Amino acid sequence: MSIYLDNAATTKPCREAVKAVTDCMTENYGNPSSLHTKGLNAQLAVDNVRKIIARAIAADPACIYFTSGATESNNLAVIGAAGAYGKRKPKIVTTSIEHASIKRTMDHLEEKGYEIVRISPDRNGQITHEQIINAVDEKTCLVSIMMVNNETGYILPVRRAFYGIKKMFPQCITHTDAVQGFMKIPFKVSELNADIVSLSGHKIHAGKGVGALYLKKGIRLEQRIFGGSQEKGIRSGTENVPMIAGMGAAVKALCGNINQRYEKVQKLKNMLCQRLSEIEGVYINSGEECSPYIVNISVTGIRSEIMLHYLEERDIYVSSGSACSKGAKSGILTEFGLNDRLADSALRISLCSENTVQELRILAENIEYAKERLLK
Ligand code: PMP
Repeated sequence: MSIYLDNAATTKPCREAVKAVTDCMTENYGNPSSLHTKGLNAQLAVDNVRKIIARAIAADPACIYFTSGATESNNLAVIGAAGAYGKRKPKIVTTSIEHASIKRTMDHLEEKGYEIVRISPDRNGQITHEQIINAVDEKTCLVSIMMVNNETGYILPVRRAFYGIKKMFPQCITHTDAVQGFMKIPFKVSELNADIVSLSGHKIHAGKGVGALYLKKGIRLEQRIFGGSQEKGIRSGTENVPMIAGMGAAVKALCGNINQRYEKVQKLKNMLCQRLSEIEGVYINSGEECSPYIVNISVTGIRSEIMLHYLEERDIYVSSGSACSKGAKSGILTEFGLNDRLADSALRISLCSENTVQELRILAENIEYAKERLLK
C-alpha cells in the first residue's frame, strides 16, 4: 500500500472530480463559445463552477476567471496589475519566500524597470504585517503576498497586512497566491481585503492544468493573452471545460468541512511532530505558526534526495523542498534562516485529510531505520 505524503506538490483527484471530468468529456464536450445547445451546456457547466468557487471564497461569480493553473493566475495578476497601474507607481512589494511563479515574474518586472521590494523573514523566521505595511508607499502599485508558503507551511499575515495597506493606500492593488490555503484555511476575499487571488485545482483533489483568478470588480489587468476574448478577455483561449468541471466537483466535495479537516490534519501533524522529535538529529522546521498540511523537517546527516529515494523504495512519497524546483535548491529554507546542513537534509511531508495515523507511524519508523542504516 503506497503512502502518499506529497500533497503540496499535487493531490490525488477525488472520486467526484474524476466523475465530473469523465462525464464532461463523454457527454458535455461542446465549446462554450458555440451558439448551439452543446455550446450552451458547456457554458452552463463552466458558469456553474464559477458559482461554486465564488461561494467557497464568498465572492461574486462574475469575479472568477478560469486559467490553466496558479502559475498562469500569478503571471496574469502580477504582470497585468503592474501594466495597468504601474506606469506612474512603479514599485511592487512582495516577499522573498514566494513560489517561483511569483518570484520569477517579479525578477522579470525588475528587468523591465520596476522597483521590487522583497520582504524576508526576520530572525525568528516570521514576516510581520508591519514589515509589509511599512514597505508600501504612494509609489506602490501592487503588493503580492502568498497565503501559505509551499515549502514550510508558514502562514503569512495577509489579512492584517492588506487591511493596513488599504487603510493608508486604498489605490494599491493587493494580490495573494492562495494556492496552499484554498480549501484548507477558510477565507473570504472581502475580509482579506484582496483585490486579486490565485487558485489552483490540482492541490485540492481536482485535475492538473486548471486554476482560477479572483479579480475584484473594477480592478483592471493589462491584457496578456490575445485571442477569442473568452473569460471577458482576461484569459483568451477555449475553456478547459472538463477540468473546470472537476475543480467544481472537488470544491463542492471539500467546502462543507474545511474546519473539521483542518482539525483532523492538525492532530496528524501534532502526532507526527511528537514522534519525530523523539528521533535524534531530526528537526522540525514547521512550527506552530504553520499550516498543519505541510511539515518540513531536517534529518541531519542524510541528504534530502537520499532519504526521499530510501522512502520511495518503501512506497512512501515525500518531497525534498518544493516539487516545482525538481531537487534544485530553491533558497526558500535559507530565507527562513536554516543553515546549509539543515537545508540540505530537508524533507517536505505534506498531508491531506485522507492520511492516517498509521501511515505517519510507518513514515516515522522508516525515518528512524534510515538514520540507523544510512548513518552507520
Ligand atoms: N503557488 C504555490 C504556492 C504553489 O505551491 C504552486 C504549485 N507548486 C503554484 C503557485 C503553481 O500552481 P500550478 O501548479 O497550478 O501552476
